Formats: sequence, C-alpha cells, structure tokens
Amino acid sequence: MAIKCRECGEEAKLIKGKYHWKEVGLDNVYLEGEGVKQWECANGHKTVQINAVGHLLKVLAGAVAKKLDRLTGKEVRFLRKSIKMRANKMAALLGMRPESYSKIENGHDEVGSRVDRMVRLVYRDPEDVEAILMALTDVQKDTEGSWDMTAPLAGQGEPVAAYAVA
Ligand SMILES: [Zn+2]
Repeated sequence: MAIKCRECGEEAKLIKGKYHWKEVGLDNVYLEGEGVKQWECANGHKTVQINAVGHLLKVLAGAVAKKLDRLTGKEVRFLRKSIKMRANKMAALLGMRPESYSKIENGHDEVGSRVDRMVRLVYRDPEDVEAILMALTDVQKDTEGSWDMTAPLAGQGEPVAAYAVA
C-alpha cells in the first residue's frame, strides 16, 4: 500500500524492518510487527504509524521500572514523563535541588542507587508517594529531626505522630 509523502507529496512506499523509536527518548527501543507501519518516499522522507501508542508506552515504562540493572538518566526521565510529572516535582520528591536532578536526567551525573529505587517507587504510585514525601518536605526542610509520637500538630486538636525538627 502506497501513500503520499506528507513532506513532498511524492508517493511513499511501505517499507519493512524494525522501527527505531527514538522519539521516546530511549536509545534502544525498536518496534516491529503489525502495530507499526513505515513508509518512505523517493526523497527519503519517512512516515511512521504506530498503533496504540499509549498502551505501548505503558508497557515500556513497566519494563523499564522492572529492569534489573541500574536505570540510566534517560530512563529516569522516561519514567518521570510516563507519569506526566514535572522535573521540579520529581526533584522535590527525591529531596534534591532541581539542578542536581537535572544533571542526572541529562547523564552528567550518575544515577545513584537511592535515586534509582526512589524513581521506581514514585513511578509505581505517584500520588501516594507524593502525598507522603511532600508532607515530609514541608516539615523537614534540611534539618535533622527526631520522631515524637505524641506531639499534636500545630493547629490540630488530635495528637498524631509528628516529625519534630530538632
Ligand atoms: Zn517525501
């Protein structure tokens, strides 16, 4: 089946082979099978049609989150984007400055084992993790503190577990 090239209007022919899906921001994702079609015109313009992109991205993110090796910076970014989280929010959840976090995504700094694990957890349950960690971020700042199981939170009557800043 031939179509018209979107760029130059020439006839584009269906071509075979795997499609290197660079658009996801990972280096090593190739698509093949019925769900992906590629056309190429005489001028070398390529047109690609990928079925069920949303589903594919979910499957891919699930696989990345379960990989046994340390995540790469690109994979950290991919997981973050797959849950539609902004980089600043992820940095805050990890307790990092945005600039430091950005260096990790960009590959300038290594993905440490803690960041690796945390990002996977955030990916698994962004809302729950965010609810817990953002509350901590507000209370802890950068100060060390200690648990006080009886202190009432300011402005609230019920005694609840509170993290007291030393
Ligand atoms: Zn063309």
